[in-house]
Amino acid sequence: MRVITVGAGLAGLTCAKMLAARGHETLVFEASDGVGGRVRTDRHGDGFLLDRGFQVFFTAYPAARRHLDYGKLDLRSFDPGAVIHDCGRREVLSDPLRDPASALPGLLARSASLTDKLNTVRLAVELGAKGARVGSVSEVEIEDTSTREYLYGAGFSRRIIGNFYSPFYGGIFLDRTLSTSARVFQFTFAMLATGKTTVPARGMGEIPAQLASHLREGSLHLNSPVEQLLRDGGRVVGVRAGGEEHEADAVVVATESPEAAKLTGERTPEGAVGEVCVYYELSGEADGRKVGLAPEGEPEPFFNNTAELSAVSDLYAPEGRGLLSAVHVGQLDLSDGEVYRRGVEQLSEWYPDADFRPLAVYRLPYCQFAQPPGVHRRTPANLTGTPGLFLAGEFTEDASINGAMLSGERAAQAVMETRWEAR
Ligand SMILES: Cc1cc2nc3c(=O)[nH]c(=O)nc-3n(C[C@H](O)[C@H](O)[C@H](O)COP(=O)(O)OP(=O)(O)OC[C@H]3O[C@@H](n4cnc5c(N)ncnc54)[C@H](O)[C@@H]3O)c2cc1C
Repeated sequence: MRVITVGAGLAGLTCAKMLAARGHETLVFEASDGVGGRVRTDRHGDGFLLDRGFQVFFTAYPAARRHLDYGKLDLRSFDPGAVIHDCGRREVLSDPLRDPASALPGLLARSASLTDKLNTVRLAVELGAKGARVGSVSEVEIEDTSTREYLYGAGFSRRIIGNFYSPFYGGIFLDRTLSTSARVFQFTFAMLATGKTTVPARGMGEIPAQLASHLREGSLHLNSPVEQLLRDGGRVVGVRAGGEEHEADAVVVATESPEAAKLTGERTPEGAVGEVCVYYELSGEADGRKVGLAPEGEPEPFFNNTAELSAVSDLYAPEGRGLLSAVHVGQLDLSDGEVYRRGVEQLSEWYPDADFRPLAVYRLPYCQFAQPPGVHRRTPANLTGTPGLFLAGEFTEDASINGAMLSGERAAQAVMETRWEAR
């Protein structure tokens, strides 16, 4: 079969990799100048590696385990736990699972009561066991609610939710209000409890690069936005890209949700969450391999979280130099200069002995499709009602690296299974 994949993000690449491995002729059309979609790494003129937005890779992701060679990615781990920066005070909140002593009453932290810590351990045991059984967010079986309601229901105090859960999971969901589906929380918690939080030594872009290395030479077309799907009667029979028509037995649309809706006319999830990621050269020290977090407060903090990436992988910065990423959840209507200045104001309180030199600002309004409670029951199927047309992309699963790769895998399976019935 000849299969065209539209989009070379993790979903499209996983799909094309699987189809190529089964001997099908695969063509991938990508609008931009490189693979990876939302997971790309830029090389700054001074030699820093800048991911396009702060991202991490959970080694426990089930779909990623099936498709990636972790050894070749040379994964470098963050320390478990986090550092909470509250009004000039710094509190290390360790992970009670990996450091059981931190759950003892003698080490009671300000941010978490003993009940909170014991609840965390209970959740880690429960959800860790669940995590070993579920492959994705949609397989988490609970009456869906918001993460915040779920945490209250599980007995956590307002204090730990505001000081830890809101900035930590808010930084992952890009939603400090924690209105994101509790299914996403449960799945993410399970991934954290059963694996490591990492980045590839040479940046997140190594993940799509590894997937793309499985494609046959000449099958990937960069700078080739698909303008239109070709239809014959009720069937999709190819694409138009760069003014040229390309025919295929099947077309898999693996773009972001809004573009997929535009190209196919299918109903796809609406809404998005975003971030502004700011990079600074760091002279001095920040939080080492732990992430820094800003608790909920009035006024809300400028940055939600920071990471000293050069402490996690020294290859992110030229030798002897430091790289700090800082994330504002949401968008900002400020000039780059003002973003840097406001950022340094906060960072100087967090790290009074360090200096910061602005490197880059990434404004990313579409990081993940919005995931309110119940959304995962309404995500579109990979097999559409139109013969020859298939969907991949995080929006068919859940907004994560795992969701995107799983969607690509399922779309490839759907293509291979429907081939004989359709023709
Ligand atoms: C800043 C940020 C932080 C994140 N943090 C995490 C994290 O820590 N952990 C995690 O698991 N997930 C995280 N995510 C989410 C994760 O990166 C995404 O869910 C995933 O990468 C989506 O992959 P995708 O293939 O579905 O879509 P995309 O990566 O968006 O790929 C779609 C591709 O289609 C291309 N395209 C669009 N239109 C056309 C067209 N007409 N013709 C041809 N090509 C087209 C685009 O250029 C793009 O390359 C984060 C995302 C961002 C942006």
